[in-house]
Formats: sequence, structure tokens, C-alpha cells
Amino acid sequence: MRTRMVAGNWKMNKNLQEGVALATELKEAVKDPKCAVVIGTPFIHLATIAELLKNSPIKVAAENCADHEKGAYTGEVSAEMVKSTGAEYVILGHSERRQYYAESYDMLAEKVRLALANGLKIIFCIGEVKEEREAGKQNEVVKAQLEGSVFGLTAEEWKNITLAYEPVWAIGTGLTATPAQAEEIHAYIRSLVAEKYGKEAAEDTTILYGGSCNEKNAAELFACPDIDGGLIGGAALVAEKFLAIIAAR
Ligand code: PEP
Repeated sequence: MRTRMVAGNWKMNKNLQEGVALATELKEAVKDPKCAVVIGTPFIHLATIAELLKNSPIKVAAENCADHEKGAYTGEVSAEMVKSTGAEYVILGHSERRQYYAESYDMLAEKVRLALANGLKIIFCIGEVKEEREAGKQNEVVKAQLEGSVFGLTAEEWKNITLAYEPVWAIGTGLTATPAQAEEIHAYIRSLVAEKYGKEAAEDTTILYGGSCNEKNAAELFACPDIDGGLIGGAALVAEKFLAIIAAR
């Protein structure tokens, strides 16, 4: 049985006090969720919030980690440092990192390698931009993203990977893939995992949908057989909305 999950991605929002207030609100409300719950926070929150959520079912994720182990990389945060905060997950390959920080397939493969070497679980994001969707290229885009950064993993390493399909044209835009569009590509992604790691591993792989998923459309998306939950941006910043999405899973 694969894990169902609702994960939040706070991006560059919330100062420390605001983040602690939101995590506290979530902690009080999420006692026995029907799915795994993860919150992805900026680095500055990790240690404080991981400590705050120590006895809670809510897990903590970093939104990135460095592509180097350690050393003279001013301003970077390594996978080992993330792990030392008590965070259990890291989000890698988010389209904003690919787009604004030029994260390449090779760089992401290295981040994945370092995250796994340091005992972190990974939420790995893939998805096409609008022009690629309009040209009908979404399948080849997600295939190349998987082959470029994560399909080099062993079957054992693969168990630590959660995928998040996030059509870039739907992120933060209010445009959501229809459940049919999302299901179609989720099923395709699962078929790629089956080709690479076998049918059983594919059945066990959690594939989240992300892109303007909110408290209103979550239930319909989550009802699709290959959509195992959501990676939530904007709606994860408001406790009431995020809790409603968790309840929909
Ligand atoms: C995201 O950035 O991962 C995301 C899904 O954002 P939003 O929900 O705001 O579209």
C-alpha cells in the first residue's frame, strides 16, 4: 500500500515567528491524520519547527539543499545540515528552482544523491511549462526529468522518493489541471516507474499533484486512482485551508 500524503511548500513566506505560529496551529489540529502530512519550510524554520513537531505526526521538509557536501559555498545549506535540524524530507527539483536558479538535471541528480546519503527522504518535483503542454510534449518532458535526475537510483534508494507532478502553468496561477488531465499524466508517470523499477515499486510510489490545488478542488483531484495527494503552495500558508486539504485526502 502506498503512502497518501499532503505536503505544504511555504516557499519564501513567513518569518520565524509567523512560521512557528502556523506550525503550532497545525500541530494542535492534526492529531491522527488519514494520510502523511509534511510541511516544507525555509531553512530558518527547520530546527525550531522540527523540535516543535517532535511528537506530532507532521513531518518537516527543507525546500532545497546544496549540490555539494560541505566547504566554501557561502550561503548554501548542505543535506547533512538539513538532516541535523530534525527535518526528515527535502523538496528537490521544484520548478522555481529549475527556472530561477538554473538547476540542471545533473545538479539535481547530485542533490538527490547527497540527500539520500544523509538519510533524507525526497519529494521530487517534475512538470512541464505551458508551451510544452500546448505542444503536447508533457510526457516527454517528465520522462526526461526523471531519467535525468532520479532514474539512476537503485531500487532500494527509490523507496525514499515521493514524486510531485506539478504542471508549471498551474503553479500559483489559479489554473489547475483538470482531474482528467492530472490522472492521465500521473498514470503515465507510474508506467515509467513500472518500466524502470517494476510494477510493485510503481504501485508503491507516491505521486502527488501540485499546482493551485486548494480546499475546493482537492477532493476531486485526490479521488483519481493515480493521484496520491498534493503538494500545496499558496493554500498551505493558511491553516484552515491546509487542514481542509488534509481532510480531503
Ligand atoms: C508549489 O509551488 O509547489 C505549488 C503547488 O504552488 P501553488 O499551490 O501555490 O500553485
